[in-house]
Amino acid sequence: MSNKELQALKERYVAAGAASPNEQFADHATNAELWDADGKRMIDFAGGIGVLNIGHRHPKVVEAVKAQLDKLMHTCQTVMPYEGYVKLAQKLSEVAPVKGHAKVMLANSGAEALENAMKIARAATGKTNVICFDGGYHGRTFYTMAMNGKAAPYQTDFGPMPGTVFRAPYPVPYHGVSEDEALRGLKMTMKADSPANITAAIVIEPVLGEGGFYAAPASFLKEIRKICDENNILMVVDEVQSGFGRTGKMFAIEHSGIEPDLMTMAKSMADGMPISAIVGTDKHMDASGPNSLGGTYTGSPTACAAALAVFDVFKEEDILGKAQALGEKLNKRFSQWQEQFEHVDNVRNLGPMAAFELVESKSSHTPKPELAAAVTKKAKEKGLILLSCGMYGNTLRFLMPVTIEDDVLEEGLAIVEESLKEVGA
Ligand code: PMP
Repeated sequence: MSNKELQALKERYVAAGAASPNEQFADHATNAELWDADGKRMIDFAGGIGVLNIGHRHPKVVEAVKAQLDKLMHTCQTVMPYEGYVKLAQKLSEVAPVKGHAKVMLANSGAEALENAMKIARAATGKTNVICFDGGYHGRTFYTMAMNGKAAPYQTDFGPMPGTVFRAPYPVPYHGVSEDEALRGLKMTMKADSPANITAAIVIEPVLGEGGFYAAPASFLKEIRKICDENNILMVVDEVQSGFGRTGKMFAIEHSGIEPDLMTMAKSMADGMPISAIVGTDKHMDASGPNSLGGTYTGSPTACAAALAVFDVFKEEDILGKAQALGEKLNKRFSQWQEQFEHVDNVRNLGPMAAFELVESKSSHTPKPELAAAVTKKAKEKGLILLSCGMYGNTLRFLMPVTIEDDVLEEGLAIVEESLKEVGA
């Protein structure tokens, strides 16, 4: 079917709140290239929003999934467990830098991982509240939409939010929130809204994903660790977007040396198969009773097979080394653009989790989201999928596979540069 025919079906049958504004439909893809239903080629700098760190349909992952499909597709692991689930739990426990001995629970999506982390934090501490951060994003289930640091569009149409979620500022010095102010804000939240004796968890993305690719300084994360240690609060690090090599290390929190109590992860964990995980210190993970966690599809055999294959690919293809090299390349190119273009500023990266902002001027820092939207639109016309993000919508973020071929990367970056020129950046 053509894009046009599929668009007509979408308009007729897909719920408005779930329908993509994109009128191009994906047909097939490989590594960092994708072809739409009309056969138009697109370079993919979005990577399915951070899911495809090792590229579309990595052959090793496809092979592992096919082999699993020939053996076993489903049991519900609470009815009868299987090898993939426990092997993946072992693997994640070994690599996730949580405090002490780690245990694992698998789920299906990032939001589900966060939901379960909040259940575990309640069970482990006997407390109810959670403190999250401005600009944070954690999902669209009932509790996670309340945890998001931005109300619209996630909460807008859905009435009162759970009353146990509170927020503190995330340090973004470029937009006037220094690390000191953010810390003061956190302490204020704990004084005024959610004192330590009722706070079960502080949940932070070490690098804001949807919120704009701002990295929290190690010293700020250390302060959170200290507050949590002193008050029997769990430090929960949401690595759904920043994990699995996106920052040049397996997990972004490793850049700070901090050991969280719980970690949530998903996205690039299984190269597009739906799976997520909560990894945490065993005493917390074991705090709730039998059959209190899980669900019919959690950690399905095919998704586990994909995730295990992803670990092999990381090792065999030096994905972390590739990620670091890509990060350096992107930062160099963006820094040139910052010099060259009047409205390009605040170039930043942690490995290939790289971004820059479009602003009125380099002195005012006033966001220009309409310019970011114009660039992504122009890039799309030229055959490049590019994403904006951020609390102000003016950040361009780059989530291409770290396995992207050099010539495809250069072609994509040339499109970004041309688009910046043509929209008057
Ligand atoms: N946490 C973070 C940091 C995310 O970036 C996302 C998704 N963008 C989520 C949670 C929610 O994940 P999912 O969409 O798989 O529910």
